[in-house]
Amino acid sequence: MPVAHETLLEIDLTALAHNYHYLRSKVESNVKFMGVVKASGYGSDVVGIARKLKELGADYVAVAYISEGIALREAGIELPIMVFHPQSANYESLVEYCLEPSLYSDFVLKEFISTAEKLNQKNFPVHLKFNTGMNRLGLSEEEVEMVTGRLNATNSVKAASVFSHLSASEDWREREFTLQQIHTFQRIAIRLFDQLKYEPLLHICNTSGIINYPEAAFDMVRSGIGLYGYGNEKSEDEKLKPVATLKTIISQIHHIKKGDSVGYNRAFTAEKPTKTATLPIGYADGIKREYGNGTIGVFIGGKYAPIIGNVCMDMIMTDVTDIDCKEGDEVIVFGGPQRATDFAEAGNTISYELITGISQRVKRVLIEH
Ligand SMILES: *Cc1c(COP(=O)(O)O)cnc(C)c1O
Repeated sequence: MPVAHETLLEIDLTALAHNYHYLRSKVESNVKFMGVVKASGYGSDVVGIARKLKELGADYVAVAYISEGIALREAGIELPIMVFHPQSANYESLVEYCLEPSLYSDFVLKEFISTAEKLNQKNFPVHLKFNTGMNRLGLSEEEVEMVTGRLNATNSVKAASVFSHLSASEDWREREFTLQQIHTFQRIAIRLFDQLKYEPLLHICNTSGIINYPEAAFDMVRSGIGLYGYGNEKSEDEKLKPVATLKTIISQIHHIKKGDSVGYNRAFTAEKPTKTATLPIGYADGIKREYGNGTIGVFIGGKYAPIIGNVCMDMIMTDVTDIDCKEGDEVIVFGGPQRATDFAEAGNTISYELITGISQRVKRVLIEH
């Protein structure tokens, strides 16, 4: 692997391929696979990830917003693209770029059908989202007749799929609730198929759904975090490979005396002679202030160096007293010897938030080996 000469996020497409094959192996081979690439591919490199997913044989990719779908189309991605949360202000560009909307209420269904009719569309693919307990977005079970009524009354749109989202698929204590969601979804599907003249694809599983409820894979699964190497539990993390490694370098080393302080507000005071390393990465890059003052550390030459003092906007300082290192040496923040899950946990958050929070100021580099 190349040595970093600046702060960068290394995106390992070989790891992505490993994770893809692992997740696919959990479900029957005829189950379709949707790779979720919202939020810039969970903070990685959305175009690089989408191209690789296409090469691997993914059936769909999904983004949250229309602008994200347009960026993929402009980069030449030809896979079907589902948009989880389209905004009506951009429906016309959604149609223009052949992006497929999730429609989650009577209001948006009506609005989208009228746009599709206005643009003379025929059988434009849409995805119907039902609420089975998450209570975030979704049509209710009682609205099935309204939905089929609207669909049967137009030929401008056609349901490519019917789906729902699990709220606690990673949590075994909520197994009863999850099974209930799956049952509700099945009931909705039966009622819907009864009244439509065709059978859209069905899907409900996200990554932890694939891992913990593979029997509920239906026709397609939607995986995000697992593709990026995180499985929401230790035993799964071990089978997956982190795609993103956040690397930086040592800008400067200081040898400070007992009683000397480091950084803003003098938040760190040396209790003994201390060797510190200053790194060019800070909260503006996504390493929040929560991570300061010994909460977590980085790896230098395979050794753990705690972050000392307050995280600055553009820099952090680390204690490297016991590490044989010099200015210009490579530093690993997460990925490699320290998973994003462990780093995130120290800051009271989850891998999802940490990796999607690495700001666009950090250069992305794709590698494949
Ligand atoms: C983000 C998202 C996913 C992916 O979830 P992971 O836990 O990252 O696999 C799947 N479906 C929907 C609707 C989502 O919003």
